[in-house]
Amino acid sequence: AKRQGRGMVRVFDESMDESIRFRRQIEGGLSGAIAKGELRLVYQPIVARDRLEVIGFEALVRWCSPEYGMVSPAMFIPIAEESNLIHELGDWVIDEAVKTLQTWPGQYVSVNFSPRQFRRHNFVGHVVERVTSAGVSPKRFQIEITETAIFDDVERAAETLFKLRQMGFRIALDDFGTGYSSLYNIRRFALDCLKIDRSFVDGMARERESAAIVHSIIHLGRALGMEVVAEGVETISQLQSLRLAGCSHLQGYYLARPMDAEAALTLAHAGFLA
Ligand code: C2E
Ligand code: CA
Ligand code: CA
Ligand code: CA
Repeated sequence: AKRQGRGMVRVFDESMDESIRFRRQIEGGLSGAIAKGELRLVYQPIVARDRLEVIGFEALVRWCSPEYGMVSPAMFIPIAEESNLIHELGDWVIDEAVKTLQTWPGQYVSVNFSPRQFRRHNFVGHVVERVTSAGVSPKRFQIEITETAIFDDVERAAETLFKLRQMGFRIALDDFGTGYSSLYNIRRFALDCLKIDRSFVDGMARERESAAIVHSIIHLGRALGMEVVAEGVETISQLQSLRLAGCSHLQGYYLARPMDAEAALTLAHAGFLA
């Protein structure tokens, strides 16, 4: 038993070592990735329910590493988020998204911001400067944040969101329903858009609970005059249920996968999904 115990400890230690080493590698690689031009943005259409008009695109970052291949943001964003790398990466994302946006006829770009970026000192001034110095109207720039970003300092977040709104930025609450928002605070915050988390859309057909949550979010959003975007629409039956439920906007693989800037430009000019 003792031997087995020791063995287990060793296995555990080694896998810890392994994961720490991997982390460090990613961290090290990532800091060079921006300079070496290894990051890319892809754009996923956000469409209006009725005629599938493309009203915006969500920008999603990709790391094409010669060493590791395509690294998912789900892997490297949390690592970047634990260091100051997130700021450098985030600034690159803003600049790149703004450049692409300028080629589109009227759509907005929706950019993800991690909690640490959002809580950065003078976040508002920073974003305003980057967006407006490029000559882009904040009305075409949507800031996507999660509940986590705003709910541990509600007062400060409310102030930041208020200022951003005053400057004309669009604000979306991402992965809505998975965090800790209270309805009281939702009302206080200046929000343009609620994004229903993919897990609810996915569960809709199977579980009464998920369907009920989706319906509630749609009603809440409508009652408060917000756009509601359902994420992760993968099937035609999800599309139909969401339309029936009155969901105003849709995003997901069934409609369109994230695409490169060139394909997004073509689609932006077409204006509608075929
Ligand atoms: P998210 O903000 O919730 O983004 C939606 C994710 O769902 C994207 O994954 C997208 O490709 C994927 N997706 C879209 N439609 C479907 C669908 O129909 N089915 C399924 N199964 N998935 C779908 P992605 O690009 O891997 O991004 C993962 C996460 O990484 C994002 O989740 C976001 O939290 C983060 N992220 C991505 N780009 C950035 C960025 O530029 N900055 C920051 N801070 N975070 C980012
Ligand atoms: Ca998002
Ligand atoms: Ca999301
Ligand atoms: Ca998510």
